[in-house]
Amino acid sequence: MKTFLYAFFIYAYTTMYAQTDTKIYDIIDAVSANRIETNITKLANFGTRHTLSDTISNTRGIGAARRWIKSEFEAIANNCNSCLDVFYQKNFVKKGTNNRITKDVWVVNIVAVQKGTKYPNRYIIMSGDIDSRISDANNFTDDAPGANDNASGMAGTMEAARVLSKYSFENSIVYVGLSGEEQGLFGGKGLADYAKEKGWDVIGIFNNDMIGNIKGVDGIISNTDFRIFSEPTPPTETEKQRTMRRFYGGEVDGISRQLARYVHTNVKTYMPEMNPMMIYRLDRFGRGGHHRPFNDVGFAGIRIMEAHENYTQQHQDIRTENGIEYGDVLKHVNFNYAAKLTAVNAINLAAIAWAPPAPKKVAIGGIVEASAKLKWTKVEGAEGYKIYWRDTTSPTWDHSRYVGDVDSFTLDGVVIDNFFFGIAAVGENGHESVVVFPNDIIKD
Ligand SMILES: [Zn+2]
Repeated sequence: MKTFLYAFFIYAYTTMYAQTDTKIYDIIDAVSANRIETNITKLANFGTRHTLSDTISNTRGIGAARRWIKSEFEAIANNCNSCLDVFYQKNFVKKGTNNRITKDVWVVNIVAVQKGTKYPNRYIIMSGDIDSRISDANNFTDDAPGANDNASGMAGTMEAARVLSKYSFENSIVYVGLSGEEQGLFGGKGLADYAKEKGWDVIGIFNNDMIGNIKGVDGIISNTDFRIFSEPTPPTETEKQRTMRRFYGGEVDGISRQLARYVHTNVKTYMPEMNPMMIYRLDRFGRGGHHRPFNDVGFAGIRIMEAHENYTQQHQDIRTENGIEYGDVLKHVNFNYAAKLTAVNAINLAAIAWAPPAPKKVAIGGIVEASAKLKWTKVEGAEGYKIYWRDTTSPTWDHSRYVGDVDSFTLDGVVIDNFFFGIAAVGENGHESVVVFPNDIIKD
């Protein structure tokens, strides 16, 4: 009896907990709200970080801000045996490019790369923005503290770098401060083009833009709700892919959407106290963010942000009007909440960076049969593969089956018409790639 019980507990333990990795909990615990507060405060105190602001002063303007951010990444690198390669990535934008570029300007991003040990050319990116603005998008001299928009995302990115620099990963992680967001997404475009030019295999980008406000303009207060925006399908798809989709499905299964689901699943697993809301659209209604230029060139990218925005505290001159205090100032930022969303990023960066690459080619078949067949290309470093499926109306991958180290499998009794399917590669450490939706058909 004793032996039986013991065996049962071992069995229960391994089946219940084998799916989680204790290092992920350590990462959550290591994210510091205090440090995030210190960094947001420092950023807000540069007065303005407008893209067109002063670059000479060491205390005010975007030049001072970016030199400080760079020095912080370098300090992290000094504490991890130079595990971060820190550099400026610059793009020259000519006066008149649009009506928010009122003079020639260098849009300067700060990039910190933590090289992967096994797949150095595969990159998962976390971004925040350096620049800020007030009511007039072109006012580059008056105070624009941008405490939430977007010192919060910038400080979160710096904190994630600090926490993850204690670990080594198989894939590369990029921590980046982007500029020129408010003037027309110029920094994101610059880095996306740079990544293309360098031949980076970009797994995706987590664009963090406003991760510190918990009180909505509608009065709702929540320090657990947050949003994950993702576009349904890539804008780079071909006419042929569009036609295929009409007959085989995939309207809500593009690469960015799979990345959103990946984040959603990990948060539900490791941070069940949080309420991630997948939002099925590129961004807020008619508004933009720095993941978009990455989507534009065919990379997966999502926006992670607070759920309840406060418009009196975004892009506003600091003032009081009719008893309402306007302005994106420090006192409206909730540092604990910013730390939680930083942890959301950090655990997903880690999980992806510890996982093998996703299979490139996934084919599906099973027309007029009581089964679904899948076939995929194997990837280096995978211990096995997991088939996921879900009802066609479900937003999340609700069913799964680990099928081991094979390159095809038939799910008997699962009618292909009634579900959507995908495949993930699983590493020997248990970490999984992002799910791949079938991109080919098995004809038989
Ligand atoms: Zn903004």
